Amino acid sequence: MPELPLQTIANELAKAVAVVATNEPMARHTTFRIGGPADVFAIAKTTDELIHAVNICREFQVPFFLLGAGSNILVSDRGIRGVTIRNKSSEFSLDDESAGDEAVDSRFVLVDSGYPMPKFVVDVSQYGLTGCEFLQSIPGTMGGGARQNVRFRNARQFDQYDGLRETRKTDCYLSEFVADVEVLTGRGERKTLLNSECGFTYTGIDAGRLEKDSLVITRLRLKMQRDSVGAVRERLQQYRTWRARRTAILFNAEIAQPQDAFTGAHARQPTGATAGCVFFNVPNDHNHPTGRLIDLCGLKGRRIGNAEISPAHANYILNLGGAKASDVRALMELAKDKVFSRFGVELVAEVQLVGQW
Ligand SMILES: Cc1cc2nc3c(=O)[nH]c(=O)nc-3n(C[C@H](O)[C@H](O)[C@H](O)COP(=O)(O)OP(=O)(O)OC[C@H]3O[C@@H](n4cnc5c(N)ncnc54)[C@H](O)[C@@H]3O)c2cc1C
Repeated sequence: MPELPLQTIANELAKAVAVVATNEPMARHTTFRIGGPADVFAIAKTTDELIHAVNICREFQVPFFLLGAGSNILVSDRGIRGVTIRNKSSEFSLDDESAGDEAVDSRFVLVDSGYPMPKFVVDVSQYGLTGCEFLQSIPGTMGGGARQNVRFRNARQFDQYDGLRETRKTDCYLSEFVADVEVLTGRGERKTLLNSECGFTYTGIDAGRLEKDSLVITRLRLKMQRDSVGAVRERLQQYRTWRARRTAILFNAEIAQPQDAFTGAHARQPTGATAGCVFFNVPNDHNHPTGRLIDLCGLKGRRIGNAEISPAHANYILNLGGAKASDVRALMELAKDKVFSRFGVELVAEVQLVGQW
């Protein structure tokens, strides 16, 4: 098939979605604030627009990248070839049918994959729906969250450091609340996958299947618990207080961290332009989380260009302002090499490298 001029595909997309631009700097659309231009950039504001845009790319055989909130990607300095579709579909509805098959009063919620996770938990709280308050501090979309099976150390239970294995037990995963996901397959069919068919693990939805079938997650059906609106608001407020204190407290050592008197949680996440944890935690003989392994290699505060391994949490890389993707990547390689040569542990990147490297 002959190569289509960018403007032709942009014109086709403009018939389907509200916003289309060419040579759009991706630094504007990632939490790292890093990334070269996307050839064509389209914003889908509804699920129908998203499906339409994906189908146009497939029809014209133009490669596309599906962008959520850009909170777990490192886009190359050379940018992304083809089309980047930013998913901003953001509606939810309550399923009339009760999800309760046990003592817990629960209800299903159908939510678009472009819905921002932090906004979702606040918006459903007005219906007294609760359970996944931890999503408040994860700045992605519901679709990106399902793709990555986002997780969080439960603030209420995580009150002491007992090594990776112990803390992993108290992780909360988005998949625990997913009843099923609606996907668009590579052949343009809309399909519903039950939770058990998604192959959720610590590292996300079954990646093999996702790649093989080129699945685009369009909607999620979540099973949430019901409580009084007042109780849910109170719980959200408790998490907010915990988060505010967590980011306000400065800390130096990975293990001996200040503990929040209110929730018993330890301060961990640095603020700034980041993409969250760069590497997954991987099982190791020392039973340490990845941040601790990188810290033990003496890499906290190490800089390349304007990128820095966070002095507070060694599994975070910060863009101090104007950092290049190549700077961040070089720090990732450095951490991988040092951890491997000191501990024999192979780190696995959680942040995805996107675009033309
Ligand atoms: C400050 C900060 C704190 C964070 N804390 C946490 C945390 O506590 N726990 C945690 O698990 N993560 C955390 N993260 C990482 C990140 O927020 C999550 O991985 C999030 O789920 C990414 O969602 P996104 O919409 O931003 O996806 P993007 O970064 O835009 O994309 C990530 C991948 O998902 C794919 N994707 C996106 N949408 C869809 C879809 N609808 N269908 C199929 N594939 C899709 C993209 O193509 C890409 O491959 C944090 C990040 C930051 C910046």
